Formats: sequence, C-alpha cells, structure tokens
Amino acid sequence: MAPLMEKIAEALHLKSHHKEKEAKAEEHPAVTAKQVFDSSKVTVVFVLGGPGAGKGTQCDKLVQEFDFCHLSAGDLLRAEQHRENSEYGELISTYIKEGQIVPMEITIKLLENAMRAALEEKTTGEGWGEGRGRFLVDGFPRKMDQALKFDEEVSKSSLVLFFTTTEEVMLQRLLKRGETSGREDDNEESIKKRFRTYKETTMPVIEHYTKQGKVASIDASASVEEVYEKASAVIKELFAGQLSRSVTV
Ligand code: UDP
Ligand code: MG
Repeated sequence: MAPLMEKIAEALHLKSHHKEKEAKAEEHPAVTAKQVFDSSKVTVVFVLGGPGAGKGTQCDKLVQEFDFCHLSAGDLLRAEQHRENSEYGELISTYIKEGQIVPMEITIKLLENAMRAALEEKTTGEGWGEGRGRFLVDGFPRKMDQALKFDEEVSKSSLVLFFTTTEEVMLQRLLKRGETSGREDDNEESIKKRFRTYKETTMPVIEHYTKQGKVASIDASASVEEVYEKASAVIKELFAGQLSRSVTV
C-alpha cells in the first residue's frame, strides 16, 4: 500500500503520514482466516465526508467509469427500516432522526449481505468474476468500532476517499436536498445533530486511516465535475497500482 499511496499523494499533492507504521502493517498478510471476503480479490473503497459533502453524487459517477458496486450504508439502513417484518425498523428510524450511529452489528451485516449478493450476481465486467469485485462503501465506517470490525472480519479496505467542505456548504446542500428527498433527517434539527456526530465520532475514523496512509482527501466545495476529476484520478491510481502489484507478485 505504501508506494501506491505515495503515488496518489504525489498526483494530488496529498500527504502520506506515518510511513513507519504503514511499513509495519505491510508485513502482515492481507487476509486473515477470520475475514469473510478475500481482500486480495475484493477491493473496498470507503467513501467518507460530512453529511451533504457529495458522497452519493460522486459515487454514482465513479460507478459508471470504474464498474464499482456502490453500497450506501444509509440507503441499506433505510431499506431495512422499511422492510416488512424487520425487527429493526423502529430502532433504525430513531437513530437516523437523532443523527446517531446505528449499532454496528446491524450495518455490518447489511453490508456483508449486499457484498455477497453482488459477488454472486455480477460475474462480468472489469474487476469482477471468480470471486473478485470492487465496492464503494459510502457513508461507512462512521465510528471507530465499525472501522476496526469491518477491516478485521469482513474485508480489509484499500483506500478512503474523503470529501471535505465547510458546514455552511453542507447545510445549504442538505436543505436543498430536503425539499425533495423525503428523508426524515434532512431538516435543520437533525442536520445539526448529524454534524455533531460527524465531528465527534467520524473524525477519529479519518484520523485512524490517515495514520495508515490510506486517506485521499478531496476538496468537495467545487462543482460536481471539478470534484469528480480529482476523485477519478485517485481511483485510476489505485487500480494502476493494484494491477502492477499483482503482475509483479
Ligand atoms: N448511519 C448509521 N451507520 C452508518 C451509516 C449511516 O447509523 O454506518 C445512519 C446515521 O444515523 C446517519 C444516517 O444513517 O446519520 C444517514 O446516513 P447517510 O449516509 O444516508 O447520510 P449522508 O451522509 O448521505 O447525508
Ligand atoms: Mg449519502
């Protein structure tokens, strides 16, 4: 991972921190017996950023260019909330309205099931077939316990795409989205709570991955197209690095 992240950092003038720790992590095998998906076959890119930063919008575009499967943790939770006979509907609704993080077991199980379904169904396309796949995991992990458990037990993530912008920009985007989204958390009261959770609970996750040299941070204040150019460049580097690695191994 170290040379790859260096390349991405160079391309985008980003910094890669704590190279020593990164090197140490490389000594350990990528796959542990406990992981559900083999991370040498399955690429997981976490997509993070505050509420309204544009994660979903950018993911939709990345799917088209790179043949990712896009999994939004929030969308999966909302689908479960509305599923008939779900025992978690009310619980999920309460957490979402309060801008709190749903207990990780639920979210991780939903992600795992969706990944398994995609790997079974999608067997053609670039990066797919014979157990291989590429996933954009959007809006997850938002809390340290989720990050550690997913990396350890589901599949080790390759990269974090981190979209940053100001609270003011995010608030305007969310209020605009709220006019049509029908989401029960796109109102000023819930938005404020989501901002607090983001700062207090999600920022430590970003710091954790920054220490591992895995974060590509992208200023998301500009237009959708301008932001996408940067996001696309990062992903191109990711796959270029992976391809050359697997060729030399
Ligand atoms: N959520 C959660 N765990 C996650 C992801 C989302 O509990 O791993 C909940 C949380 O309450 C969050 C809400 O789902 O505020 C909406 O998340 P979504 O990603 O849809 O919001 P966005 O970031 O797109 O505004
Ligand atoms: Mg979203």
